[in-house]
Amino acid sequence: MTTPSIVWLRRDLRLADQAAFYAASQAGPVIPVYVLDDDTPRHRRMGGASRWWLHHSLERLDADLRARGSRLILRRGKVDEVLPALAAETGASAVHALHHYEPWWRNAERAVGKAMPLHLHHGNTLAPPGSVLTGSGTPFKIFTPFWRALSERMPPAPPLPVPDLTAPTHWPASDPLDSWGLLPIKPDWAGGFRAEWTPGEGGALERLETFVRRAPKYAEHRNLPSMEGTSRLSAHLHFGEVSPAMVWHRTAAAGGSVATFLGEIGWREYAQNVIVQLPDYGNRNAREAYDRFPWRAGPDADADFAAWTQGRTGYPIVDAGMRQLWVSGWMHNRVRMIAASFLIKHLLVDWRRGDQWFWDTLVDADYGSNAVNWQWSAGTGVDSNMFVRIMAPLTQSPKFDAGDYIRQWVPELAHLSDLEIHDPVKPVRGYPQKIVDHAAARARALAAHQALKG
Ligand SMILES: Cc1cc2nc3c(=O)[nH]c(=O)nc-3n(C[C@H](O)[C@H](O)[C@H](O)COP(=O)(O)OP(=O)(O)OC[C@H]3O[C@@H](n4cnc5c(N)ncnc54)[C@H](O)[C@@H]3O)c2cc1C
Repeated sequence: MTTPSIVWLRRDLRLADQAAFYAASQAGPVIPVYVLDDDTPRHRRMGGASRWWLHHSLERLDADLRARGSRLILRRGKVDEVLPALAAETGASAVHALHHYEPWWRNAERAVGKAMPLHLHHGNTLAPPGSVLTGSGTPFKIFTPFWRALSERMPPAPPLPVPDLTAPTHWPASDPLDSWGLLPIKPDWAGGFRAEWTPGEGGALERLETFVRRAPKYAEHRNLPSMEGTSRLSAHLHFGEVSPAMVWHRTAAAGGSVATFLGEIGWREYAQNVIVQLPDYGNRNAREAYDRFPWRAGPDADADFAAWTQGRTGYPIVDAGMRQLWVSGWMHNRVRMIAASFLIKHLLVDWRRGDQWFWDTLVDADYGSNAVNWQWSAGTGVDSNMFVRIMAPLTQSPKFDAGDYIRQWVPELAHLSDLEIHDPVKPVRGYPQKIVDHAAARARALAAHQALKG
């Protein structure tokens, strides 16, 4: 019998259009392995919401594999030690995996590749990051020309089928998933997550099918937080439960404004390209001048930051978003932009604190997409400088018809009229007063920005 191959899984927890599974299955028996390796300093430790999702996604993948006569092996430790040890134990001669672009995964790939034969495949992006270049062969800095160049290479290759998997003669031992303690116990804050999400490939494909029907109206509805106008595929895409190529093929022919939706998939691609060029993007301002920005620090800033995280700023749209995030692990994109702008500009708190909070609380927390969007909001990024675009929450809220959204997430305000709910005129019992005045905060932010420039 041919020697088995290990399929090393990370954020690619699916069977369809999964090139590592496909290639390994062509070579012989397959041992699918997930290694929990985020406790070492080289990793950014996964946040609580991601750990919740990961638990359920691994559980689903194991069930899907078992239905095909295979199973998922779980191990914990440094991946460049765990995989060679597992290979020695099972006689596996090679590892197959999909490329990942977070700096810690690129380092881990190098380390595993030194220890044993590692075959890396493409498949979690529409085109390999770093392969879409300007006419002069340099990476794009700005999204629009990047997306135009990438679009010219579409459609992506047709999705690969779910492979037939041959089991090895002996299965190695696996950690029990529960022993990893990925789920919250005391307190169990995940009730709202369970109500909203079905992690795993089946849940991803179901979301995709539901969205295909709405896709033609995407541009019309995507900015309205009171509606379910977007796909809610972000966590499924982050964990690789569906491939972007599959999303592309399933939606591209939907008609209407689906091109706008595909452009958002393009932002995801762009983010992966940015972290390949600038691996430290999640920690460091791309515009170094901002290293001198006078971010507020100290007890007052800490109290404001806490109010922001708890959805108690006195700005209903911001508070609705932050509570939606806490309860369900997700926030509507329009509201993410408003909440991020509020933290950075109204409160003058360093974007990295916001990035970290999102990292811990979003089910779709993604190193590249999170940093690209935070640096975009802060004006510190490689793309255009957005610092002076200070979003006015009280104007944005009626503009995007957020009344019912606020009613859902800030029940203290639910009784207010459609007009008043965006900005209560009189104090409302149990709801805080505004922690900053909009005009004063705006002036303070612009002055701080001016001082930096001057
Ligand atoms: C401050 C801030 C932080 C963010 N952090 C993350 C993050 O950690 N992870 C994440 O996936 N998205 C992040 N986003 C982008 C965006 O808000 C989410 O991708 C989107 O809200 C997910 O909902 P959806 O799947 O319904 O999106 P849809 O509108 O249906 O878009 C389809 C897909 O395109 C991708 N996408 C959409 N918008 C963006 C974008 N602006 N940047 C990158 N990819 C995008 C996502 O994969 C999404 O699932 C952030 C945005 C902001 C403003």
